Amino acid sequence: MSAQDARGPNEHEEAVRGIRDKLYIDGAFVDAADGRTLDVLSPHDNALIATIAEGGVEDVDRAVAAAERAFPAWSEMAAADRGLLLLKLADAIEAHGDELAMLETIDTGHPIRDSRFIDVPRTAACFRYFGGMADKFQGSVVPVEAGFLNYVLRAPIGVVGQIVPWNFPLMFVSWNMGPALAAGNTVVMKPSEITPLSTLRVAELMSEVGFPNGVVNIVPGYGHTVGQRLAEHPRIGKIAFTGSTATGRRIVEASKGNLKRVQLELGGKGANIVFDDANIVAAVNGSAWAIFHNQGQACIAGSRLILHKRIADSFLEKFLTLTRSIKVGDPCELTTEMGPLTSTLHRDRVVDYIKVAKDQGGTILAGGMAPADPALAKGCYVLPTVVCAKPTDRVAQEEVFGPFVTVLTFESDEEALSIANATEYGLGAGLWTADLARAHKMARGLRGGICWINSYKRVNPGSPFGGVGKSGYGREMGFEAMHDYTEARSIWVNVDAQVPPFYKR
Ligand code: NDP
Repeated sequence: MSAQDARGPNEHEEAVRGIRDKLYIDGAFVDAADGRTLDVLSPHDNALIATIAEGGVEDVDRAVAAAERAFPAWSEMAAADRGLLLLKLADAIEAHGDELAMLETIDTGHPIRDSRFIDVPRTAACFRYFGGMADKFQGSVVPVEAGFLNYVLRAPIGVVGQIVPWNFPLMFVSWNMGPALAAGNTVVMKPSEITPLSTLRVAELMSEVGFPNGVVNIVPGYGHTVGQRLAEHPRIGKIAFTGSTATGRRIVEASKGNLKRVQLELGGKGANIVFDDANIVAAVNGSAWAIFHNQGQACIAGSRLILHKRIADSFLEKFLTLTRSIKVGDPCELTTEMGPLTSTLHRDRVVDYIKVAKDQGGTILAGGMAPADPALAKGCYVLPTVVCAKPTDRVAQEEVFGPFVTVLTFESDEEALSIANATEYGLGAGLWTADLARAHKMARGLRGGICWINSYKRVNPGSPFGGVGKSGYGREMGFEAMHDYTEARSIWVNVDAQVPPFYKR
């Protein structure tokens, strides 16, 4: 073990010892009804990390029944008490931060410095935000006609299903569960079968801090079984899904039986525009972060670098130098800046896009292959890749979801906007300029849910997150998320109204 390796005997062993390998239903860790299991592999070398219970349809039904039983008491509990449990959970996540970070790193391939200093703090912050929100999210009184009081309650929906992907499993637990639980819903969550470990550990921490049995249930398993059952389940009132647009459509289709509410956080093809008056050093750095953080496996990744022709060459020279210097390696090494992609299947998808780019006449400016280091040969590694292409090429239109950025150029603001808006996605976008008026004008014109000016990839639990078009609908975080996890109920009271009888008898 190198001196720089974060897998000190204690942290690594503690994390592995901490692995919970069963489903979490009704406050207990249990085997799958049919006894099936699935293997969880390390993206670093494809070695077996753990064998865990694989949920199925019967397990989803058990979990939904537990969540239904827990709902009345949970939804009627004082909001401040629900909030307190979320605040305690945030503290517990911080107290177990090293262990959770290591678990996330060995399961997903996130560099340990990111897991420890981004994922864990953001997860705690999100639970803390919604813990504080629980007793501050209010209904309203509507000024209606004299003699009547009309007030609007924000009532929880009931049992909600949440299908969470493999790119940020720890953080997404808090993004999904934070508002759902604060609002008084109970939850059945399917983490990705590829990366269930941190979610199961959070469930255990929830149990330790005192969440009542059945309020949260975790059923790892496959999309066509567990995911499909959650989406179609007649007693689930809302389904929240994060993943691909194609699967999002299947969720909508499956949800129609009971017309459940659907929230979709789908793909993206983030435009990142650099104008000729931008601070180039900041833009180079921010643009690299925009695409290469988490190996580009982010729906908001700045995967289209749209450069003003006047600065394109000088920008690219610096950007390529930075790209080639990114330290790709074992995610447990403290100095690693980019780890492996999260699965072999996904690595192969990303590698296929390198061929697609070449076939359509694209030029590979950096990367485009696996690292030469034999120590990484068994893992899901791809070097940070920069490709010059045309706006209509597939790599400029489709979500690659890897360390793969497509470079395009423009000559006028109008052209930049038109290239940026020329995909079917609309999630995150960034722009770099010293001109404030231009920045605001472009931000209004960019089609999407989020825009960063002279920055990229900022998120905060108070700020709404979500997209338009093929990027989905509904919002995570902030007051918007609380709205999305509640139903408005309008209550009418006759306090002093002399209403004529409707039927004169
Ligand atoms: P999918 O959308 O196929 O899968 C996401 C989750 O949905 C997984 O847990 C999956 O389970 C589940 N799922 C699959 N089919 C169904 C179904 N019929 N009903 C309910 N749930 C289902 O994404 P992939 O992981 O295959 O990745 C493919 C692409 O999706 C990526 O390349 C990327 O472009 C995009 N993506 C976007 C994410 C985002 O943050 N918006 C996150 C992840 C992926 P199972 O794995 O068993 O199929």
